[in-house]
Amino acid sequence: MERLIIANWKMNPKNLKAAFVLAGSVKRYLKDVRGVRVVICPPFPYLAVVARQLKHSSLELGAQDASWEPSGPHTGQISLPMLKALGCGFVILGHSELRAQSGETDAMVNRKVHATLKAGLVPIVCVENAVQLIKDLRGVPRSSYAKIRVVYEPSWAISTAKGAKPADPKEVRRMVQKLDTIASPAVFLYGGSVSSKNAGAFLKKGMVQGFLVGQASLRPREFANLVKKAIFG
Ligand code: PEP
Repeated sequence: MERLIIANWKMNPKNLKAAFVLAGSVKRYLKDVRGVRVVICPPFPYLAVVARQLKHSSLELGAQDASWEPSGPHTGQISLPMLKALGCGFVILGHSELRAQSGETDAMVNRKVHATLKAGLVPIVCVENAVQLIKDLRGVPRSSYAKIRVVYEPSWAISTAKGAKPADPKEVRRMVQKLDTIASPAVFLYGGSVSSKNAGAFLKKGMVQGFLVGQASLRPREFANLVKKAIFG
């Protein structure tokens, strides 16, 4: 069974040098760790230096979003071929912060899922409920579902949300069971205030194969402990 941990750095750290140092620390802490895929998703301008830092390690590279267009007059957008050329194998799509702050709709997420699969990258689709997942996967052939990673990530559980607290692992299991009826055999992850302390409970009771991690991914030692929890429980 695949274990997968996605590090979502969001709009952090503050500069290029700090990004290079952070990626280096994560690489050192996870040097001997096997049995889990770890994907680092830095902001776009840091992708190249993080790619350089992750070379010759087992850590993989991902992006936090992508355009569904391959090129053309789309000011401010980043294409999937550009991301692929930088070494990205994964793309986070439909994150609740993009939905809330940039007006990302399910129709847009859906176009991005199609484009990501066509480009040969792995879409990491973030949803809060079953309706979103149905809309985000509209028209995607069932034969492609195994290539998709679905994150159940309630926005109220994201650590930066006001009064955030992690979801109840039993509630995560209930939700993942529901999402599984829609997108099986996709791999399911949980996101929202995951730490090395609570990760084990989600793996045991939540029916997930890994996590999307925000804040904790910016602290290399804590992140490494969290990754180790995903392997050893
Ligand atoms: C996220 O950004 O997707 C996230 C889950 O953040 P955090 O782990 O900080 O709650």
